[in-house]
Amino acid sequence: MNLTQTLFPAGGSSPAPAPSPSHPSSLFPQIARCRTMRDLAQVHAAFIKTGQINDTLAAAEILRFCATSDRFHRDLEYAHKIFKQMRQPNCFSWNTMIRGFSESDEDEAVTAITLFCEMIGHVFVGPNRFTFPSVLKACAKTGKIREGKQIHGLALKFGLDGDEFVMSNLVRMYVMCDLMKDARVLFYKNIIEQDRHGDMVTDKRRRDGEVVLWNVMIDGYVRLGDFKAARMLFDKMRQRSVVSWNTMISGYSQNGFLKEAVEIFQEMQSGEIRPNYVTLLSVLPAISRLGSLELGEWIHLYAEKNGIEIDDVLGSALIDMYSKCGIIEKAVHVFERLPRKNAITWSAMINGFAMHGQANEAIDCFHEMEEASVRPSDVVYIGLLTACSHAGFVEQGRRFFSHMLNVSGLEPRIEHYGCMVDLLGRSGHLKEAEELILNMPMKPDDVIWKALLGACKIHGNIEMGERVAGALMEMAPHDSGAYVALSNMYASRGNWAAVSDMRVRMKEMDIRKDPGSSWIDIDGAVHEFLVEDESHPRSEEIRSMLLEISEKLRSVGYRPITTQVLLNLDEEDKENALYHHSERIAVAFGLISAKAGASLRIVKNLRICEDCHSSFKLISKVYGRHITVRDRKRFHHFKDGSCSCLDFW
Ligand code: ZN
Ligand code: ZN
Repeated sequence: MNLTQTLFPAGGSSPAPAPSPSHPSSLFPQIARCRTMRDLAQVHAAFIKTGQINDTLAAAEILRFCATSDRFHRDLEYAHKIFKQMRQPNCFSWNTMIRGFSESDEDEAVTAITLFCEMIGHVFVGPNRFTFPSVLKACAKTGKIREGKQIHGLALKFGLDGDEFVMSNLVRMYVMCDLMKDARVLFYKNIIEQDRHGDMVTDKRRRDGEVVLWNVMIDGYVRLGDFKAARMLFDKMRQRSVVSWNTMISGYSQNGFLKEAVEIFQEMQSGEIRPNYVTLLSVLPAISRLGSLELGEWIHLYAEKNGIEIDDVLGSALIDMYSKCGIIEKAVHVFERLPRKNAITWSAMINGFAMHGQANEAIDCFHEMEEASVRPSDVVYIGLLTACSHAGFVEQGRRFFSHMLNVSGLEPRIEHYGCMVDLLGRSGHLKEAEELILNMPMKPDDVIWKALLGACKIHGNIEMGERVAGALMEMAPHDSGAYVALSNMYASRGNWAAVSDMRVRMKEMDIRKDPGSSWIDIDGAVHEFLVEDESHPRSEEIRSMLLEISEKLRSVGYRPITTQVLLNLDEEDKENALYHHSERIAVAFGLISAKAGASLRIVKNLRICEDCHSSFKLISKVYGRHITVRDRKRFHHFKDGSCSCLDFW
């Protein structure tokens, strides 16, 4: 509500009446027209000149503008000065100040509590139901729980324990101060109270307050990671707001419950509440990681149709989504149309190109970014180095690595060293890669050793491989990675005695391989498969499709690469083990369920194995399908019997 307009209608767009000391209200409409603090300062000066500043209502309105307009325009310090000069600030002005400070950052929010205490000590004005929510917000933000509890007591004394907004702010305070038990007690006490009123809650303010209260509690459970409790409350809500949905979606999405995030988002579609900007931003990361292109496209279209602004933040999320769903052209399309681009946008695009092995495009994009005078973040360099690594651009990679520190002034993190080790190692500069690890300023982690181990495997350097695997086993004795890589190296040389040795050691230490899992998106629904997975409702059909595939491949001359199968199973078992890799099951399911000619998009949690890679090339030819696999490292686009990575991955 705009107080000025209610009390003193401005009278359309006619110019403001000339200031006249005889009419105290005459300057009022000018406050409503202020857009910036500079405008306000002028009006304020006129108020002082005409003496109208002594009018309590006028001063309160000026105060409201400086303390609570949007964060770009307000000036709390200025407001505080005016406030201190007010002879008899009324309750409205006290509330304005407390609210202004409570909405500010942590340092300033403390002042809200101090002001509240002053107000309590005041003879003429006391706090009301609008004062408490603000001061409680300040307690929550600053973690001042001791003061918060006292204020809780005061709220009871003032008879405000039935006020939904006071209640929800109390519950929020306990949630934010990690006192979930107190929050819960208060929440359930309130629910029992509400139930007693039953259907009598027809008052809109009370109804809205109830929704806020529930949202706060759900958010509390989400923060704790107790999604079961959060979901239970969510399902029980009589009424939900868009915030209720957003809390659940972003909670799931940020905590790795990707399928749940997408499912609840789809559930939202069947209700009355429409997704907003925050909803889209919350669900997009889950969609990207799952690779659900169809849903991602839906979101893009929805934003366009509903006038949701695709700004640099939402735009970056869309670029990331299209890149991770395998459609780099669309990512470029979004990128080019953005009115503003920041470092996050540029790095989303550069990383997108890197993921797709388009090193030249990534490098061009980086130069464009430099020309646009945007300071690169260190994430940008991860994209660049990854791009160089996928393309084998050793010289360029070395240059970017030194550019990072010398030109951009960014200290390389371990991830950057990891990219360099990968780049050098894969291009055969194994010695240089090892030296880089040994001389870097931080302690090497398992990821970086694994990158070097992978390179040893590619170049068949068993001597270094054993050394690196040794370091890895010492660092993470229960991680299967080193054992599997070393065994594969021995196996490819036919050293079965050493392979068997590894098996014994793994068994003794009870080490198991990471379970592989792949998922495929069919008509917006995600189907996930594990190794040898037979749990899918259509598993019978999948099995016969797998058989059909293997026969067809055989007929075009394919022989499985069985050295990829860990340990010395006999030959037949080895073949079987290959046919039941999760990505194969996903492909078979895709072939029986996707529309004729539609491309298949699969996401795998681990790297695709050599045998699946060469089979997929043939499958793309035999079945005339474009197959995209996003594995842990990058994208593979299989088409007409070859892969976009040109077998360098
Ligand atoms: Zn495989
Ligand atoms: Zn490939």
